Amino acid sequence: ETKGIPNSKRVFCRSRPLSREEASAGYATVTDFDGAKDGDLGIVTSGFTKKTYRFDRVYMPKDNQDDVFADASPLVISVLDGYNVCIFAYGQTGTGKTFTMEGIENNRGVNYRTLELLFRMIEERKDAFTYNVSVNVLEVYNEQIRDLLVNSPASKKLEIRQDIGGINHVPGIVNAEVENIREVWNVLQAGSNARAVGSNNVNEHSSRSHCMICITVRARNSMNGECTKSKLWLVDLAGSERLAKTDVQGERRKEAQNINRSLSALGDVISALASKSSHIPYRNSKLTHLLQDSLGGEAKILMFVQISPLEQDLGETLSSLNFATRVR
Ligand code: ADP
Ligand code: MG
Repeated sequence: ETKGIPNSKRVFCRSRPLSREEASAGYATVTDFDGAKDGDLGIVTSGFTKKTYRFDRVYMPKDNQDDVFADASPLVISVLDGYNVCIFAYGQTGTGKTFTMEGIENNRGVNYRTLELLFRMIEERKDAFTYNVSVNVLEVYNEQIRDLLVNSPASKKLEIRQDIGGINHVPGIVNAEVENIREVWNVLQAGSNARAVGSNNVNEHSSRSHCMICITVRARNSMNGECTKSKLWLVDLAGSERLAKTDVQGERRKEAQNINRSLSALGDVISALASKSSHIPYRNSKLTHLLQDSLGGEAKILMFVQISPLEQDLGETLSSLNFATRVR
């Protein structure tokens, strides 16, 4: 467990830094990190009013990928111990969701670091356990699941089914077996390249779809033969920004509605779980349906709420922080 955070759900808030251009142009900011060490984030909503939000962690713009992963790494041990884990990044486009999850060249994010630690731990435990790791890479766009490990673009429609044990799976999806970090990284690269195929603007497309990586770990205890299976989901969510008033027609509108619907479904599910509600509305979106067994039960959830420090983004920032407060 991360020290001082006993529950199985954590919400970490991360603000991107100002870009060099923004800093030199002197853009106004609204973020106040005075209480960051205690998990408090201040938002100056007007000249005189500061609203404070509390999180399990608040990162300052200077905090780097090492600092972030230090807090996320205990979840890797949980996966090897048989827990389902779900790590996702939520926020407006441009706030650093992909930076946190994927990272950039020479400054890798949670995904790579998680997998690297996973395989290192597997190596350390190899006398006591035999592990089997497989990977799915998919995206959900307009409520349709697309397998990013399949080469043919016109592949069959994928649906979610529940097996007898109550575990969800997607029949026909490619399960890539991997033995080490290099192999898994190659698979993820292939998935990320496939994402670009058929979209004329990759960044734009990726901000409108949920990018989902599922790592399935099967463990066999060499002493007693006991087997466990656990899943680790790494999710870079679609941008949470609301539809611009000028952009209310056609395909964009449909995309935006699907994104809104699935992100609210995610919020609904997490808060229903927190309030121990008897009905958890997993089926309201493909996103929550896919994540079903990694959100409920004994699963461990980590959400990064990504925000912009800029005054001009205040509306979206407040809306993201409110979402986070609701699920926390
Ligand atoms: P999103 O995926 O939410 O749309 P990105 O991850 O693409 O946002 O981030 C937008 C830009 O800000 C990118 O150029 C990214 O490298 C940069 N950025 C985001 N977060 C950080 C950070 N913590 N430190 C440095 N650069 C960052
Ligand atoms: Mg992104």
